[in-house]
Amino acid sequence: MTATELKGGPLATLIRTDVAERAAKLAEQGRTPRLAVVTATDDEASAWYVRSIAKAAGKVGITCDIVDLGPAAGAAEITATLERLSADDTVHGLMLQTPLPAGARLEELAGAIDFAKDVDGASPLSLGRLAAGLPAFAPATAEAVLTILEHYQVELQGKHVVVVGRSTVVGKPAAHLLLDRNATVTVCHSRTTDLAALTSTAEVLVAAVGRAGLITGAHVRPGATVIDVGTNPTEDGGLAGDVDPAVAAVAGALTPVPGGVGPVTTALLLRHTVEAAER
Ligand code: NAP
Repeated sequence: MTATELKGGPLATLIRTDVAERAAKLAEQGRTPRLAVVTATDDEASAWYVRSIAKAAGKVGITCDIVDLGPAAGAAEITATLERLSADDTVHGLMLQTPLPAGARLEELAGAIDFAKDVDGASPLSLGRLAAGLPAFAPATAEAVLTILEHYQVELQGKHVVVVGRSTVVGKPAAHLLLDRNATVTVCHSRTTDLAALTSTAEVLVAAVGRAGLITGAHVRPGATVIDVGTNPTEDGGLAGDVDPAVAAVAGALTPVPGGVGPVTTALLLRHTVEAAER
């Protein structure tokens, strides 16, 4: 068997087209959507990602400000910046990029992001509302997992979905979104004993770990749908997923890395920004 490739690019294009039309309408009313991305790191991969968001935003008519506080920024400075941008009426979407300076926790600092502008669903209020089934922006990566599954019409109701990874930005919110679609969800993590025994029972497997090639053919039920969230830098400057490419011989469908979850994540961030501006 060779797995069907669940490409993120075409879906991201559809989302961006819709976003561009909505952004143009807002601009006609004098409300050009504006996204502010606060960074406090000298991590090159993070800087590349933020620049790619700004570029994608520019193409759909969203202004993107990168507010770079540098790696020496303290929690007080980051919080004050988020509070200032939260109070700024010209800013519709606001996100805090990771990694953060040592000792700073996204979950704590993101509490300073106005809930209505929290387009990457990072604040405890957004996450709590998501868990409670109330309207909130979900973290864009977690929503990208669901959006890909829905776009490719993968049945979730009653299906056993295994999520590997329990981070606040991906694994946990993805599990909540999957539960909302009536999937039966198992969440695995680094202390899970016998990962393969659990993952190989999954009809849908989501890998959000950050370990290149962790998920091998032995972890996958034949014919399963596999969503690879992992983006692990390779020595040659490329990106590898959490899923071993040989899994394509076992799975029924598989997202590529790069070109799977990543482009959909960025497109959803832009959609959230336009939604925030529309409100
Ligand atoms: P994270 O915060 O480091 O969380 C990783 C999770 O994986 C943790 O829950 C950890 O368990 C679990 N884990 C680690 N080793 C494991 C193992 N051997 N077996 C089972 N579980 C294991 O990472 P993250 O922020 O969720 O990101 C995960 C991956 O997604 C990374 O590669 C990241 O770059 C990528 N990512 C991609 C996008 C995108 O747009 N495509 C966006 C965000 C993140 P514990 O909780 O027990 O430590």
